[in-house]
This record gives sequence, structure tokens and C-alpha cells, in this order.
Amino acid sequence: MNYFSLNNKNHKVSFKEAVIQGLAPDRGLYFPETISPLSSDFFENITSLSNEEIAFEVIRQFVGEEISENVLKQIISETLCFDFPCVPIENNIYSLELFHGPTMAFKDVGARFMSRCLAYFNKDNHNSKNIVLVATSGDTGGAVASGFLGVKGVEVVILYPSGKVSDIQERQLTTLGQNSTALEVEGFFDDCQDMVKKAFLDESLADKNLTSANSINIARWLPQMFYFFFAYKQLKSENKPLVFSCPSGNFGNICAGILAKKLGLPIEHFVASTNANDTVPRFLETGKYEPNPSIATISNAMDVGNPSNFVRIQELYKYDLAEFNKDFSSYSFSDEATKTAIKSIYENSGYIAEPHGAIGFLGLKSELQKHSNSIGVFLETAHPIKFLDTVEPILQLTLPIPKQIESVLNKEKVSTKIKTYEELKEFILK
Ligand SMILES: *Cc1c(COP(=O)(O)O)cnc(C)c1O
Repeated sequence: MNYFSLNNKNHKVSFKEAVIQGLAPDRGLYFPETISPLSSDFFENITSLSNEEIAFEVIRQFVGEEISENVLKQIISETLCFDFPCVPIENNIYSLELFHGPTMAFKDVGARFMSRCLAYFNKDNHNSKNIVLVATSGDTGGAVASGFLGVKGVEVVILYPSGKVSDIQERQLTTLGQNSTALEVEGFFDDCQDMVKKAFLDESLADKNLTSANSINIARWLPQMFYFFFAYKQLKSENKPLVFSCPSGNFGNICAGILAKKLGLPIEHFVASTNANDTVPRFLETGKYEPNPSIATISNAMDVGNPSNFVRIQELYKYDLAEFNKDFSSYSFSDEATKTAIKSIYENSGYIAEPHGAIGFLGLKSELQKHSNSIGVFLETAHPIKFLDTVEPILQLTLPIPKQIESVLNKEKVSTKIKTYEELKEFILK
């Protein structure tokens, strides 16, 4: 399968090249050259397939012949080593829990899949290393550090905004050691992302084999399709149209859902639910894409002012705003509304949501007013324990610590503070 750069359709590379490069040399995101719908048999029989079988059918065309069937199956099985339950919250509303993986955020799926693809492509490469450079607003860092832990030939360098990630998130990305290093940046997530982008453009780092593990990388982005299929499998017998609400930051997750629909998955409508970082809701209102600097919120993994995958979404809709509007809505919610939702979800159903999931819930509720006969699913993208500083005071309770988190709590934080791009560059050069 070939991928073209969204900045230049004539620039094409293989799956392998796209995974290794992350971003095209012209700074465009890679996009699959063809998208072929899956067979109607597949959808008819989906309830009799295992998650691994479903994932294999879904991803196969995007990998092509570049990874053999057996190796791909092995990668999928190592990626999907946990459950994806759809939990009923209230009448016709489900929480699709994506947080049962090793770092308790949905990014485990993409990070585990990408790391194993990269390790496979690196297996015969004994003298050079890949440096995975990743900017995180909270959860990516931990998932990537964990997903790549001990993977041969790969060094992971994580940039995170100092003081703007939760305590548990910080521990997850600063305590693993081995082949991962955490750089604590004085600034916001956008500053981290800008430094990473600059490093990719920097000629003097050209021989360092830098790659990205943000959702701009196709191997992070594409496997996120899987859980839309898993949700469909669980809800198929209800026989109702599905509306999915994705708490959105860089819009990789929702973009994968839209791709799943292109493969034939019957999804009636998508809701991109955002916090105060409302570039996309404003775009839908005004037709103008005007990114703002990011604003810090309690749903920090979505504090993104200029969502990198939005250009892929526009490509999926062929830049046709009318078509796009039919399928897609977007709503923005304040921190106050998020806190109120966490409280009311708990009071009404006993369910403990964290800030990102609560925003997904709010967006879903708004949209479902227009879809009276549908089932709504919001993605619960992280475990509440990762945001205990927010959730516990609102609900006046103490959350039990899951075993995945317990293991990082008493480890020592190791990070290097940096302020400027020059310091990052120095670090990479040595
Ligand atoms: C990354 C993240 C998001 C946003 O996902 P995108 O694919 O960037 O839109 C939402 N919630 C949590 C908990 C996350 O870690």
C-alpha cells in the first residue's frame, strides 16, 4: 500500500517508509492512496469474530505485503492485550472504555502497534538507531514510552509541558528509564509540538533518523479504527443507528472513526467534543479555519489549538463542507460544564467518568437530541485515576489505585528541564 503526502499527491512512499518517516519531507501528513470497503460478509459475521480477527481484516489493506500475515497477526495480538467494553450508562448511551491497557489511556493501542511495526522494520538494521521524538499534552508520552520500552534500535525522547500534566501522567512518562528520556519543557504543549516540528525540519539533524509517534504517524493513527469495530460488534444486536462522540484534541481518534466508516462500518454520525480549545467547532460555524494558541484546561490531553489530523478529515470528505456537515458535528465545553457533567453522570448512573470522557458524554447528549432512534457511544479515553486531582474532589471519594498505576507511584521522576529549541537540539546531537 502506498501513502501520499497531503502537501503533494505525487510524493508517494510505502507503508514502511511512511512509518519510519512519520511526516513527509514536505511536512505533509501521509494518507492512504486507496481505501477499499470491507465485504458485507465481514459485517454480517462480525459477532462471531475475535477482536484480533477483526483487527487483522481492518488493517490488512493498509499494511499490504510489507509485513507478512503471521507477523502482522502477532503484532495485533500483542497490541490488543486488553478489553474494550461498551458499558451502558443510561438509556441508549454507552461508554466505550478504551483505558484497560498498560498506561490506562486509549493511546496504548496506537503506541503498541506502531512500536512493533518499527521494531520489525528495524530488525536487520544493526548499526543505526531510530529516535522517536514525541510531544505530549499528557497521555501520549506515557503510552509511547511504555509501548516502545525495550524495543531494540529505538530511543524515545518525550517532550512535555512542565506543570501541565497530572502527577500520574508525569510519573508514567518520567519513571520508565531504559530507552526513554523525558524532557520537561518550560511552556505549553504547543511549544513542545513546535520544537518537535522544528527538529524534523533541521538539516543538521537529518542523519539522526528522527520519527514521530504522534497520531500524525500512520501506525499510530490507523489502529485506532479497531475499537469502533469492537463497539459495533457489541452493539450490533440492538439494530439501531450509531452516533459516536470522541473527546478530541489532535483529532486522530475521530479521524480513524471516519476512516472506519469509509471501510463500510455503519456509523450514522460523529461528534467531535472539545474543551475550550474550539478551533474545529468555530470552523463548522464560520467555515474559516483559524487556529488559536492552546488554552490549559482540566482535560489537558485535548489542549490542542491546531489539531494536526484535521487536514486528514478534510481529505476524507474531499474538502466538501456540505458532505462533512452531514456526518459531523462539533461542540465545545468549559471546565465548569465538564465538572458538572462528572458529578451528574455519577449521581444519575453511578458511573465515574474523567474529564475527557465527560466532555465526550456532553457532546453526545447535545447531538442525540437530533437522533431520537439512535444509540450513542462516547469514548472514555482514560481511566479516572489519571485525573484523580479533578475527579476525587468533585465526587468526594477516593478512587482505588489500579495495579498498572501502582507500579509507577513509588518510582522516582527523572527528567531534564529545557526551555529552548537549542537545548533540544544539543540533547539529540549528543
Ligand atoms: C490524546 C487524548 C485525547 C485526544 O485524542 P485525539 O486523537 O488527539 O483527538 C482525548 N482523551 C485522552 C485521555 C487522550 O489522552
